[in-house]
Amino acid sequence: MTTPLEMTFLGTGTSLGVPMIGCSCDVCLSADSHNRRRRSSVYVVAGSTRLVIDTSPDFREQALTFGLRQVDAVLFTHAHADHILGLDDIRRFNTLQSAVIPVYAVSETMAEVRRVFSYIGRPVQPGLYRPQVDFRIVPVQSTFGVGEVEITALPVEHGAEHTVGFCLSYQGRRIGYFPDCHRMPEPTREALRGVSLMVLDTLRYRPHPTHLCVAESIALLQGIGAPESYLTHLCHDLDHARLARELPAGIHVAYDGLVVRV
Ligand SMILES: [Zn+2]
Ligand SMILES: [Zn+2]
Ligand SMILES: [Zn+2]
Repeated sequence: MTTPLEMTFLGTGTSLGVPMIGCSCDVCLSADSHNRRRRSSVYVVAGSTRLVIDTSPDFREQALTFGLRQVDAVLFTHAHADHILGLDDIRRFNTLQSAVIPVYAVSETMAEVRRVFSYIGRPVQPGLYRPQVDFRIVPVQSTFGVGEVEITALPVEHGAEHTVGFCLSYQGRRIGYFPDCHRMPEPTREALRGVSLMVLDTLRYRPHPTHLCVAESIALLQGIGAPESYLTHLCHDLDHARLARELPAGIHVAYDGLVVRV
């Protein structure tokens, strides 16, 4: 039986979130709930499989707000703080599921995650409770399976860091999730040909040294040619309603709580 591949945006903001602490710009003070952006992360449901891509510093609040009850695996795009610092809250899913939860990342990212969370796996005194995770290194550009989903980690340029996005495939439908990208190498673009849904960062209107800006994101998305694309990882320069009006057909602004199905 064919069931939809469902993606929920748990967060769509850049590393500082929107509103930013202490900022009184129009977007940070906006009454439009679309302009409230937690740090970027998505939750994917495919058949019986439930994944989270990146555990942001807002992960606990995201899990509560969007009613997460099951996480079969965590995928990390890279080890920047806004993508990994919520990992400690995976403990509740260890308890709810009575399970060790696998965590997937490329080797350089995994080394950094293990350094930041060096207490994971150390002997525990009674009364302390640490995440129960199984760190699994995945090679770049090769496909691995998590439950019913096939996943390929594809490299992008994002500052000096080792960063990937993921192409997820389920029952013949494929989606790309690339929240932190400044330039996308040709082999990655080639691998994304034919995706049904594409998610890509756009930080602001002005160019940025480690992220795509609006004009660059639009050009890249039009080159990839997915029928539907969503922009994420936005900073406070971007007002949701204004940006939504400016985008060409088929390209949309994601917002926290948005659910898309393919
Ligand atoms: Zn980020
Ligand atoms: Zn602001
Ligand atoms: Zn980053």
